[in-house]
Amino acid sequence: MRSDVAVLGAGPGGYIGAIRAAQLGLKATVIEADRPGGVCLNWGCIPSKALLTGAELVENLRSHGETFGIGVSGLTLDYDKLITHSRKTADRLAKGVEGLLKKNAVTLVRGRGRFAGPGSIEVSGAEPQLVEATSVMVATGSREFVPPGIVVDGTRILTSREALESRVVPPRLIVIGAGAVGLEFAYVYAMYGAQVTVIEMAGQVLPGCDPDIAEAMQRELRRKKIDVKLGTRFEQSKVANGGVRVTVSKDGAAQELEAEQLLVAIGRRPNSEDLGLEKVGLAPDGRGFLAVDAQLRTAAPNVYAIGDVAQPPLLAHKASEEGVAAAETIAGIARPPIDHRKIPACIYAQPQVAWIGLTEAQAKAEYGDDLLVGKFPFTASGKAVAAAHTAGFVKILAEPRHREIVGAHIIGAGATELIAEIGLAMTLEATTSEIAATCHAHPTLSEAILEAALAAEGRALNF
Ligand SMILES: Cc1cc2nc3c(=O)[nH]c(=O)nc-3n(C[C@H](O)[C@H](O)[C@H](O)COP(=O)(O)OP(=O)(O)OC[C@H]3O[C@@H](n4cnc5c(N)ncnc54)[C@H](O)[C@@H]3O)c2cc1C
Repeated sequence: MRSDVAVLGAGPGGYIGAIRAAQLGLKATVIEADRPGGVCLNWGCIPSKALLTGAELVENLRSHGETFGIGVSGLTLDYDKLITHSRKTADRLAKGVEGLLKKNAVTLVRGRGRFAGPGSIEVSGAEPQLVEATSVMVATGSREFVPPGIVVDGTRILTSREALESRVVPPRLIVIGAGAVGLEFAYVYAMYGAQVTVIEMAGQVLPGCDPDIAEAMQRELRRKKIDVKLGTRFEQSKVANGGVRVTVSKDGAAQELEAEQLLVAIGRRPNSEDLGLEKVGLAPDGRGFLAVDAQLRTAAPNVYAIGDVAQPPLLAHKASEEGVAAAETIAGIARPPIDHRKIPACIYAQPQVAWIGLTEAQAKAEYGDDLLVGKFPFTASGKAVAAAHTAGFVKILAEPRHREIVGAHIIGAGATELIAEIGLAMTLEATTSEIAATCHAHPTLSEAILEAALAAEGRALNF
């Protein structure tokens, strides 16, 4: 089979890249070893958000039911049903991707692909064949990282992949890693009744995020009785007596913890092995990523890499953006490179967290002490108080010369939706004055963005 573009992997990077290529008049073929939709639709973003919605409902009823006159004395939790809903959601969306590929005349080839040579992909498995293409987009994604010495058995020791299918809530759960995936699962399991302990080697949760946000999140997790052990190193685990014994250490002192399950959530590794990269003169870097230039070109002619396999951040919307960008470049469209500073990061546990752009420390390093910082707490938001969701705040950072927004950090209900306003503002190079001049509906959580922008200019009205 001959195509203009062959895409290896039908995750949110690959299937979107293939569709965009087809929209631009190119004959596109996407090769997928598993199910279209990739990790995102099948084993990541979507099924986990179904679980998180359940957890949020439980928390709302338990913590706020009384406030709203809802008696919850007979509340029963059926985690098995929640998993059924989550799997059905994933199935429905994965089927939707097949429909989208068909609608856009993208050929889907089922099987595992590897380079046989430049412009040539050998597919083995369900539909073995040779796919030849002028350009190739490598979009093979990533998988869970499991450190040596840990054996994932799906019963006692799990990664997010097994957890998404596991139909039981253990009485006690230990989570290694307080990144987005670790905290989201910690929250889900805690709300469905597990006693959860999170181990994190760094000195804060969500390593790399603005410390103000991390501190607020740590407080909220403790309030939910999730035990977070910071600066604590995982040493080893042993499955014994129907449970897991985990050794951790802090400042050189070892401690033994016990639980019925251990969830390993310490990051992901790019899928860059066994792709026949040597046939096109490519090799992954030391961490397994494929190096790309600003237009997502690898060092091999006409070979592009996008999404998790290309470079961090490992996020679905970043993968899709890169799929579009690579397709447009292949089609000969001169377009600006993706600005990776403007890619939002979101965590969907409650309270939600979202950020974009620079942290306060990064912005101070770049713009000095005159950096404008505007903060507005949700305790001062009418909508948040009415909804009984007052935890958190919005923090906006603007450079001092033009007051252009260079970063924003939100923790609180609705944070993952609110960040889109800041994303648009940053795309438009908007200033705090322009956000301040935008009439925000009352009462809405988005007024917190307006107020944070006003606060950055020293003229907050409601705080
Ligand atoms: C639990 C969890 C929750 C997450 N939540 C979020 C979230 O809320 N928001 C967010 O932005 N991101 C989230 N992510 C990350 C997100 O899922 C990934 O960043 C995203 O899926 C990456 O897209 P991709 O297209 O690069 O790769 P993937 O989605 O990994 O897709 C790659 C595809 O390539 C296929 N493939 C691999 N090798 C071959 C081969 N040789 N031949 C053919 N096919 C191949 C794979 O089968 C797979 O379908 C989450 C991840 C996890 C694990």
